[in-house]
Amino acid sequence: MSLSANRLINRPILATIHTEAFHHNLNRIRDLAPESKIWSVVKAKAYGHTLEAALKGLGSTDGFALLDIADAEWLRGRGWQGRILLLEGLFSSEEMKLAITLKCDLVVHSEKQVQWLESYQNHSNQPINIFLKLNSGMNRLGLRSDEYRTAFHRLHAAGYHLHHMTHFANADQVERSPSVGEQMECFGLATDGLDAPSSLANSAAILWHRNALGDWVRPGIMLYGVSPTGVHADIVRSELQPVMQLRSEIIDIQDIRKGDHIGYGGRYQAPEDMRIGVIACGYADGYPRQAADGTPVWVDAGDARGDGMICPIVGQVSMDMLTIDLREAPNAKIGTTVELWGNEVPVDDVAQMSGTIGYELICALATRVPVVIK
Ligand SMILES: *Cc1c(COP(=O)(O)O)cnc(C)c1O
Repeated sequence: MSLSANRLINRPILATIHTEAFHHNLNRIRDLAPESKIWSVVKAKAYGHTLEAALKGLGSTDGFALLDIADAEWLRGRGWQGRILLLEGLFSSEEMKLAITLKCDLVVHSEKQVQWLESYQNHSNQPINIFLKLNSGMNRLGLRSDEYRTAFHRLHAAGYHLHHMTHFANADQVERSPSVGEQMECFGLATDGLDAPSSLANSAAILWHRNALGDWVRPGIMLYGVSPTGVHADIVRSELQPVMQLRSEIIDIQDIRKGDHIGYGGRYQAPEDMRIGVIACGYADGYPRQAADGTPVWVDAGDARGDGMICPIVGQVSMDMLTIDLREAPNAKIGTTVELWGNEVPVDDVAQMSGTIGYELICALATRVPVVIK
């Protein structure tokens, strides 16, 4: 099948977002954390999948957690009536009015934000939900234990509806400090006697620290079927499904001779006479330039069974193209479909071959790549 056959423009690259996989992954999270409500984390345009796709596939979530208030506005405009959490709270006091109009819940992680909320006159009789964030050892955002308890009392006195929140630095690794256990201990001490619902777990904690979930879990990466550790086997074992599929086509083929070099820098040298496929996908599409020789690309075999084979990248990824070794795919021709990542090629594997993690690749999908929501 040719991707370009369905489209008006001819450059054959396409990201497909499979919303039924979103739905499936959300249900898996419900199985893993049956007692918790779910904030589906959709920051960075739903990790590159578009908010529109997230809304379509994750409509049964309890709430959406995001950073940018414009995204909250967009969700309300599209009729979303469930909860919305601003994960970093207000960036300025001026955002308060809009946040309230949009009925957003707010993270509060700093003394400045506590002051903004204290001085705000809430004339509506609707209580505002606050997720007060404790720095329990990650040392990125959050109030220190001693500041935390005072902030809790101050905001409580000002009429806000409080929740406890913290974030784990190492829920995906053992033997790294601070451990989930150490952070939980800090959390327990800081919140001791302060009765409020809690929000603790990110994806890795949902998968591997079932004792550290809290009343609201905050899954991000696992919703997208990508591994928090970068190891794709974790996703298979957890029965999660990739949501994004990035495909393109072979736009040209080179027959090269033994000893010939390919691409910028001539990084790859042919060990024998071979066929090279040129794919319409490069780093300006969000494909990592760091991808090493051997990074897998799936090539459609062009038979009725819909089978295909893995053909490795050979040569440096350039801005608009990359090149693959077609020795295993004798039937591949111009117009043959390839998958850069998705069901056949885990984005985790591409990331691993590129010295990064799946998070970075899906978030970096370029705006020039057309997206189809299925
Ligand atoms: C991004 C984020 C999450 C989601 O993390 P994943 O590792 O993608 O599950 C959860 N909580 C906070 C505060 C975040 O910023």
